[in-house]
Amino acid sequence: MKKIFWLFVIFSFFISQPAFCAKKNTSKNIEDLAKVIVKIKTQQRLKDSDYSVTPSRSNKTGSGERVRRQKLIREIGYNLLNSNEIDKRMTFSYSLDYKDPNAYATLKTRRINVNKGLFDMIDYDDELAFILGHEISHAIDSYWGPANGLFYNPQFNFVHRRIESRCDLRSIDFMVKAGYNPIAGLIIMNKLSDQPITDYFRTHPIGTKRLATMYVYIRDTYPDFLKDNELVKNPVYKNFLITCKKDIDKIDKKLQDNRNKEIQTEN
Ligand SMILES: [Zn+2]
Repeated sequence: MKKIFWLFVIFSFFISQPAFCAKKNTSKNIEDLAKVIVKIKTQQRLKDSDYSVTPSRSNKTGSGERVRRQKLIREIGYNLLNSNEIDKRMTFSYSLDYKDPNAYATLKTRRINVNKGLFDMIDYDDELAFILGHEISHAIDSYWGPANGLFYNPQFNFVHRRIESRCDLRSIDFMVKAGYNPIAGLIIMNKLSDQPITDYFRTHPIGTKRLATMYVYIRDTYPDFLKDNELVKNPVYKNFLITCKKDIDKIDKKLQDNRNKEIQTEN
C-alpha cells in the first residue's frame, strides 16, 4: 500500500510540471515581455541608426502594389499603436483607386485610410508614420464624449484648425516613441500642405504656419533630431527652412513675449 502511495506521489509530481510551466506563461507575462521587446527595439534603433530613416519599402507600382502597401500601412500603424500603448481600437486600409493625395480617419468606424495619391509621394517609411500618427490622433479623439463618441464631430467644432495642429504634434510624439524620425513629418507636410491666401474659412492651418508649429515643437522637445542625419540634408526639408523662416520667427517672438509677460507678473 505504501509503495502505491509513493508511486502516486512521484507520478503526480511529473504530471504537474507542464501545468506549472504553462502557468508561468500567462497573458500578463507575454504582454510585459512584448512591452520590453518594443522598448529595447526602439532604444536599439535610435542608438544603432543615429537617427537614420528607412527608405519606403513599398513604392513600386504594378501587380501586388495594393497588397504590399496595405501590409506596410498595417505594420507601421500597429507599431505606432503598440509602442504608445494606445488602448483604443482602429483599423488601417489602402485605396488604390483614389488618386488625390489624402489620408483620413473615418470617425464612426475608426478606419484609417491612405489613398494611392498620397502614398505615391512617400519616400521614407518615417513619412508614412507621420501621416498614420496624425490620423491615429483623430481616431483617438473620436472616442471622446458620451455613448462611445456617438456625438463627437470635429466639423461642428469651431477650433478645427487647432485640432489639426494638435494631431500633428501628437503624431510627432507617437513617432519618436515608436523609433521614427520626426523630421520626416516636416518633409511629407512640405510636399502636401496647401498655401492658400488665407486660412480664415478653412479647416486646416495654412501650410507655413502648420509646418512652423511642428518645427518649433520638434526643436524644443526633441532637439537631437535636428543634428546631422540623412533627413536634415533632404532638399524638401531645406526648402521648408527657407520658406517657413518668417513663420518660425513669429512663433519664437510670441513665445518670448509670453515669457516676458510671465516675468513681469512675477515681479
Ligand atoms: Zn487631420
